[in-house]
Amino acid sequence: MSVAEGHGLTLASRLYKSRTFGLTLGFMCVALGMYPLDPAGWVWAWMLINAFVWPHVAFQLTLRSTKALRSERRNLLFDSFCGGFWVGAMHFNPLPSVTTLSMMTMNNVAIGGPRFMFAGWGAQALGIGTSLLVFAPAFMAMTTQAQLYACLPLLMLYPLALGWICYRQALNLARHKRELLTLSRTDSLTGLLNHGAWKDHLELQFQRCRRGSTGAAIALIDIDHFKVINDTYGHVTGDIVLRRLSTFLRQNLRATDLAGRYGGDEFCVILPDMPLNRAAELMDALRDRFNALAYAQDPTLRASVSIGLAPYQPAHADSTSWLNDADQALYEAKSSGRNRVSAVQGSWLRSV
Ligand code: GH3
Ligand code: MG
Repeated sequence: MSVAEGHGLTLASRLYKSRTFGLTLGFMCVALGMYPLDPAGWVWAWMLINAFVWPHVAFQLTLRSTKALRSERRNLLFDSFCGGFWVGAMHFNPLPSVTTLSMMTMNNVAIGGPRFMFAGWGAQALGIGTSLLVFAPAFMAMTTQAQLYACLPLLMLYPLALGWICYRQALNLARHKRELLTLSRTDSLTGLLNHGAWKDHLELQFQRCRRGSTGAAIALIDIDHFKVINDTYGHVTGDIVLRRLSTFLRQNLRATDLAGRYGGDEFCVILPDMPLNRAAELMDALRDRFNALAYAQDPTLRASVSIGLAPYQPAHADSTSWLNDADQALYEAKSSGRNRVSAVQGSWLRSV
């Protein structure tokens, strides 16, 4: 089933309730409009079928259709056609006619926008034309008090029901939007922030530091010889190691620290309000603990990490130059033997 078909079926079940409700209320309005005209038996029968059988037929037609959305649009146009037909049959009695046509127009515009509203008006015009062929054209200028009262439930309750449906729809859309936004900012393998989302946070942190309100350090963490792990144990085990490291980071960092997956086997962390010496101690302890954990989980799989650390410095022109410092520090950690933390301090690089 395509997304459009799924949407069509959801629309059909939503419209099933609102059509059943709307046509029941509409029946009172049309029946009282038709009563003084003393219609033939088949007209009463058609009125009853339209009000009480058609909603179920419409729903079944859509359920059985391979193109649910198209089928439901046809049903809605048929609703409009019937609305137009009853307006002509009631000899354009003002209140029941306006009520019937405007409720259907409201329905059409809520469901298909202005284009569908125009299509609905076309179907209503066709319905009016058909009834003028079937019944003698006439104009009933007066709405009686009984007809007025018969229209009130439709006038009051149907907009309420449609408004409620639209409100629920808006809530659902807002929830979906939030979920999509979260998904678009999350790394699917590890559940950490993805590259783009983490860099947005880095930019924000850089601006905060630049305003002088806070200091911060960033760390780039790369798994040592990860290619060997992949080649020796397979990519599934490689993925497990990546997930273990991300869980480890989540469990061992402060709630205010922001961990992300920079890409491949490289992770990135923003440590707000943390001086470099404290950040270096923390990172070294993390590195040590991760080694021990990896060893405890699988002694044959020696997973260690190298970490490059860079504090914010006023000399940084932008967040990229701050990130470059961390990258250089990581390079230093790798080239000086791996499984260690290197930090940039001033323009110096040093191993911790
Ligand atoms: P170094 O110590 O210098 O970092 O060596 P390395 O072998 O870890 O080299 P590098 O960091 O360049 O290797 C990254 C590898 O990570 C290469 C790539 O095949 C692998 N990789 C990237 N993304 C994934 C992933 O999502 N899952 C797995 N299993 N492997 C990945
Ligand atoms: Mg690596």
